[in-house]
Amino acid sequence: MTSFKRKEHIRHSAKVTRGPRWRALRMQALDRDGWACVQCGTRKRLECDHVLPVRTHPELAYTLSNLQILCGACHTRKTRIEVGHKPLTPKRQQWRDLLRDMQRNPSSIGETSC
Ligand SMILES: [Zn+2]
Repeated sequence: MTSFKRKEHIRHSAKVTRGPRWRALRMQALDRDGWACVQCGTRKRLECDHVLPVRTHPELAYTLSNLQILCGACHTRKTRIEVGHKPLTPKRQQWRDLLRDMQRNPSSIGETSC
């Protein structure tokens, strides 16, 4: 066995995230996490993430406690780290967060978020 490649990681996930079994589980995870990203609290672009990657822990692919709801941005950040990329520099991250805040619906003022 040689070291894994990025392609393989994608294929592993795709196998799991297809089919009705996954869809039902994803709904359970969304309900549990309140339909918001567990890291930044946004409710946009939500994705269901495996805390321990399917690549290394295929037996946990359908375990609810191994799932967490992340938004696209947080998910990308986590995946980047997993596949060995350096995380974004704080400055770039700040910029992204700013953009995200700007994209937020202003009607949500009054909701207390971090
Ligand atoms: Zn997030």
